[in-house]
Amino acid sequence: MSCLFCKIIKGEIPCKKIYEDDQIFAFHDINPQAPVHVLIISKKHISGIPQLVIDDDALIGKIMRTAHKIAQQLNVADQGYRVVVNSGRNAGQEVFHIHFHLLGGRSMNWPPG
Ligand code: AMP
Ligand code: ZN
Repeated sequence: MSCLFCKIIKGEIPCKKIYEDDQIFAFHDINPQAPVHVLIISKKHISGIPQLVIDDDALIGKIMRTAHKIAQQLNVADQGYRVVVNSGRNAGQEVFHIHFHLLGGRSMNWPPG
């Protein structure tokens, strides 16, 4: 498996890990776009939103609740934060292992660029 994020989960590529349980792994983005920029990923390899199946529904809900807990832990929950999943070319998806960007610590524009 040549997936970058699967290698990070296995510890084959270093990262700044901030959370892990049996299903979920979270670490700081290497190229942060905000004072807080964390990637929350499933341990199961799922390429992206189009590849989600019904059995993943609970996992995705858990990832969202985990995002809020991490936002609280990193002190950005009160002021607000953004959770983003890029899907496909127009959104600029670069890594095809589903990941949720947690961005916080600054105000953000809408619509995003
Ligand atoms: P996306 O464009 O949505 O596919 O996002 C991929 C994200 O992964 C980008 O924000 C990258 O900065 C980040 N990234 C790529 N390689 C690494 C790495 N080795 N460690 C942490 N984050 C990474
Ligand atoms: Zn993977």
